[in-house]
Amino acid sequence: MYKKIYPPSTIGILGGGQLGRMLAQEAKKMGYRIITLDPTLGCPCAQVCDEQIVAEFSNKTQALKLAKKVDVLTYEFENIPAETVEYLEKHGFSVFPCSKALKLTQNRIKEKEFLRSQGILTADFYAVERTSDLEKAFLELGLPAVLKTSTGGYDGKGQVVLKNRKELENVFSRSSFGPLIWEKFIPFVKEISVICARGKNGQIKTFPVPENTHCNNILHMSIVPARIPAEVEKKAANIAKRVAERLGVIGVIGVEMFLLKDRTILVNEIAPRVHNSGHYTIEACYTSQFEQHIRAICGLPLGSTDLLSPAVMVNILGDGLMCKKDIFSLIDGVLKIAGVNLHLYGKNEIRPGRKMGHITVLAKSVSDAIRKAGIALKSSS
Ligand code: AMP
Repeated sequence: MYKKIYPPSTIGILGGGQLGRMLAQEAKKMGYRIITLDPTLGCPCAQVCDEQIVAEFSNKTQALKLAKKVDVLTYEFENIPAETVEYLEKHGFSVFPCSKALKLTQNRIKEKEFLRSQGILTADFYAVERTSDLEKAFLELGLPAVLKTSTGGYDGKGQVVLKNRKELENVFSRSSFGPLIWEKFIPFVKEISVICARGKNGQIKTFPVPENTHCNNILHMSIVPARIPAEVEKKAANIAKRVAERLGVIGVIGVEMFLLKDRTILVNEIAPRVHNSGHYTIEACYTSQFEQHIRAICGLPLGSTDLLSPAVMVNILGDGLMCKKDIFSLIDGVLKIAGVNLHLYGKNEIRPGRKMGHITVLAKSVSDAIRKAGIALKSSS
């Protein structure tokens, strides 16, 4: 029998960014206490939680201190060192999702090997450990290709698209590099994702599938419901469920996918945490992905994932908001439009590409929501 953790127990979150903040907000609503561990004093999560331990994620002593203060542990950032989570598990503390899922998804090569071993399709890839492997990858998979660091990347960081031989030569000329993955460039028709939750009793639920567009490899917009056939949505949900089950995940994961013209689905990436493309669930579903994660890791029944309204989520990035005045005009513009929900993450420093907040627009139809989002963001400029 698994342990149920009822409010007002304390939940520990490794990582204190916006995902931790939104997890904490939902958990507080349910009556839990939250302690976050993050190196930045006053990080977005710390602003809304009960206590912060200011420490690096690699600081095992401080992580253990957190574990001893809380009833259950989770994380909100996929680059938390897996060794920290393993250390806590070795000391008898439960961390959800477990270190095995975290470790596997931190390495794109191992992640793709795992997916393939489960009969799940991915882009063809080649592990590049040294310069000579580049030529081998080129001969085997050809161009165009996407070259990514096999560990440590997120939001498109550490990756480059190679379209021709000249661009490949530029990579050759680099004196050194860490392990890379060469992926065949996929001419997808849509990017979609599935947010999937698995509870301690094995109960599993997926949210309505969003279709996602990216700018500079960073998520720009999620549109729900995705404009895809019902049969594709079902297939995508089943893939995500299989991933969650086979990884033995407890909690929420995000599974990013490419949809091809012939309706084939390839999995691009697994995030062992709540996901940016699931932010729409806060206003548009009976249960948000954040509440669902809290329910799952606390051993409570999962909530309904039914959609209440078509929705569009747009990220607000630091680009174009390089002074506070611009943020103020964005706030004024966005708040004028009915049905637009503004979320800002409390980050003081505005940097290009940094996720400062998001809006979620609810409307009668997807096209209406897209139109309203356009008006909301334009009226702010
Ligand atoms: P990732 O860091 O793997 O999530 O990649 C960020 C974005 O880059 C994805 O959402 C895609 O838009 C694009 N991308 C990544 N891998 C590929 C690929 N193999 N082929 C085409 N586009 C890709």
